[in-house]
Amino acid sequence: MNTKFPYADLKLPKAIERLPEIAYNLWFSWNSEALELFARIDRNRWDQFVHNPVRLLMETEPEVWEALIHDEDFIHHYDRVIQQWDDYCHEQTWFQKTYPDFVSYKIAYLSAEFGFHESLPIYSGGLGVLAGDHCKSASDLGIPLVGIGLLYKKGYFNQKIDAEGRQQSDALSYDFSKLPILPVLNDHGETLMIEVPLADRIVKLQVWQVLVGRNINYLLDADIEGNSPWDRDLTGQLYGGNQDVRIAQEILLGMGGVKVLRALKVPTAVYHINEGHAAFQAIERIQEQLEAGIPFHVAVEVIRASSVFTTHTPVPAGHDAFPLPMVDYYFSFLFSRWKEHKHAWMKLGLESSKPLFNMTHLALNTAALRNGVSKLHGQVSRNMFRSFHGNIGEKEVPIGHITNGVHLSTWLAPELKELYSRFMPGTWLRNQTNTDLWRSLDLIPSESLWEVHMHLKEKLIRLARANLREQRRRNDLPADKVEEVRGLLNPQVLTIGFARRFATYKRANLIFNDLDRLDRLINDPDRPVQLLFAGKAHPADHPGQEMIKEIYRVSQMDRFRGKIVLLENYDMNLARYLVQGVDVWLNNPRRPYEASGTSGQKAALNGVINFSVLDGWWEEGYDGSNGWSIEANNDADWQTQERENTESIYRKLEQEIVPLYYNQGKLPHQWVARMKRSIQTLAPVYNTDRMVMDYTNHTYIPSLKRTLAFLAEDYDMATKVADFKQFIFANWHYVRILEVNDNVNKTAEAKSPLTDSRQQLKEVTATVRFGPVWYKDTRVELVYYEERPDGWHQVVVAMEPTKELEERTVQYRAVIPSHLRHRAHFSVRVHPVSPNFATSFEVPLVTTL
Ligand SMILES: *Cc1c(COP(=O)(O)O)cnc(C)c1O
Repeated sequence: MNTKFPYADLKLPKAIERLPEIAYNLWFSWNSEALELFARIDRNRWDQFVHNPVRLLMETEPEVWEALIHDEDFIHHYDRVIQQWDDYCHEQTWFQKTYPDFVSYKIAYLSAEFGFHESLPIYSGGLGVLAGDHCKSASDLGIPLVGIGLLYKKGYFNQKIDAEGRQQSDALSYDFSKLPILPVLNDHGETLMIEVPLADRIVKLQVWQVLVGRNINYLLDADIEGNSPWDRDLTGQLYGGNQDVRIAQEILLGMGGVKVLRALKVPTAVYHINEGHAAFQAIERIQEQLEAGIPFHVAVEVIRASSVFTTHTPVPAGHDAFPLPMVDYYFSFLFSRWKEHKHAWMKLGLESSKPLFNMTHLALNTAALRNGVSKLHGQVSRNMFRSFHGNIGEKEVPIGHITNGVHLSTWLAPELKELYSRFMPGTWLRNQTNTDLWRSLDLIPSESLWEVHMHLKEKLIRLARANLREQRRRNDLPADKVEEVRGLLNPQVLTIGFARRFATYKRANLIFNDLDRLDRLINDPDRPVQLLFAGKAHPADHPGQEMIKEIYRVSQMDRFRGKIVLLENYDMNLARYLVQGVDVWLNNPRRPYEASGTSGQKAALNGVINFSVLDGWWEEGYDGSNGWSIEANNDADWQTQERENTESIYRKLEQEIVPLYYNQGKLPHQWVARMKRSIQTLAPVYNTDRMVMDYTNHTYIPSLKRTLAFLAEDYDMATKVADFKQFIFANWHYVRILEVNDNVNKTAEAKSPLTDSRQQLKEVTATVRFGPVWYKDTRVELVYYEERPDGWHQVVVAMEPTKELEERTVQYRAVIPSHLRHRAHFSVRVHPVSPNFATSFEVPLVTTL
């Protein structure tokens, strides 16, 4: 399939000549047989090279190949992997079957980080891993996705913990020629370069490709001769540098990303931006439209129709915002070329209360379809951006949610995959979103599941000991201290894992609030507990690093030594061992700061039971019997919530979790039953196949269809929508609700549509003056609140026009329950509508009375 790619000059014997094809396609990262095949070549080097198959192939000596081709087992293994790869490339996919008419369009997916595998370190945490998992499922499902990102010379950073518990960050420089990536060549066989204007100069970018199953991701690299040292360093480090570096990186990603697609003539129809970092794609695409002679306001509509925006940050401070002079400077090229549009351009990102250009505002203004990453986060985002959309209810704000998931084949332990496969139909991986299939796991004997689980726990403990030994050795601890690690951690003991970025809101040290109580749990002679921590703090995040120090300090206390451990250099490899090998996955963020969280989803697939604050995905995933919740009164102040969360953690451990684990001797049947419930209820839902299908059905395809409609007949629809909006903005101030009458006398009895009970009704009339706006281009609605068992709900009733009066005034009527006696209980509003809008509140104009 990929024979046209110029794989590095690897001379492999004929019998295994297609190994480079596997090494250069990240498909290997979710195929356990392929991974094992590479490991067989040389296990030590495989680990030493951080599981990078390309470097392994490059540095393997001819004698080794010679021996391997005479190893029949190895050749059979190789043949199996090649067969699987060929089958994968040729199978009919979900997308081909579901959307045959759209297979020739591409969806661009832009992200500042991608976590595919530990061997390609261009991710920092959950956002990147999500992007990687998104691309993998897109390939599995046949979705024509093209990923766009940056190629960081120093990656994120390698973390070391010193003898004082301080995080040391090592920035290694990667040799791109030995990573599983390839340069993209132009028609003349030279490396493809693109150029992005930045401030007063042009930055050149080399284009690399990462093959991800059926799809390709492109990565941009500024470390090119001819660029100034400062520019070369722009793709130096992920999230490194100050705001200048940040805005420049985002320009390279957003504008450069579009230029790559053009250079390669990729027929891109939809642009999905994973967080606001890539929002500058809109600026570049508006510019393209202007170059083609399209007016600015029409260009914006075209870009809106074809953009999808996923927001991931539930706190305003987490959104990138740049001072206006900085934007002015970095876009001076653009603004000098298009002086007359500068103001309109700036307005797309302007914050309302501060002179800042906000990337999330830019994204919201230039993407018609937007979503948060869990049900709760959707709600939080709607509240956060409510003012953005006029005076409307939270539920009406046009930001939806698509809950995150994880890529099953990447995160499920191969040993468990094999076990599940014995009890589910052969096609279960392809149909993993079918909840019914997972019921068959009831049939797995508890012994078998427990046996595999214990095996994975032992594997984790071996890795943890090696990790600790390396820390101690490097920190010059005495030999007995280094050797002591052999005895640390016990696979029979209830093991709790906590691993994620050490951002302060994640409160890694919460469980240390009462060390004596923790001591009683950990050191219970009959029912002990052990705790594993891992995670990186951003090098500029000092409170995060303090948290690491505190964990380290506690881990060194006599009473916790060897029972609470801090592992270093959390990456996708360590993450895999942890989410597959502990018993309980602890997550206690400050609610609602965890937009979704995904590590708990990885744990769930593997029968590791979640114990988490009801935040992010767990708010919807937890059903009372598939894990445990950490509770607090969500309306209380932070300190109270923290106290209540802490109490909840200790109490549930003491009263529920520890007793359940230890209640039946060697095989805890009830524990295993809960593991099964967790797998069966969570795995079919919180995977990226479900997530990417949701994106396709609810955003990519609608966006694609609307874009095609907008562009048809020489931009006819785009122009109509743009002109209509322009007209509405200019004339909306004429629209006035003149009076509202509440005819208490005109009552009747009817069934309430909502509560199904009979109630008295009354008529409400409203008189609205429209001025030049045509009344049919608006909707007049009556809004009131109704009390239901779960609280107050907004009810919106469309008002019917009954009479056209003079002076462009129209009378409306609606019928509502009469117990709303006073006008204060309801309001009437008018807002513009169009069948060509993507959502009801696309224009943030709402007039109320
Ligand atoms: C999955 C993953 C994350 C995300 O973890 P959360 O607990 O969801 O924040 C971060 N880092 C790595 C290496 C991961 O694999």
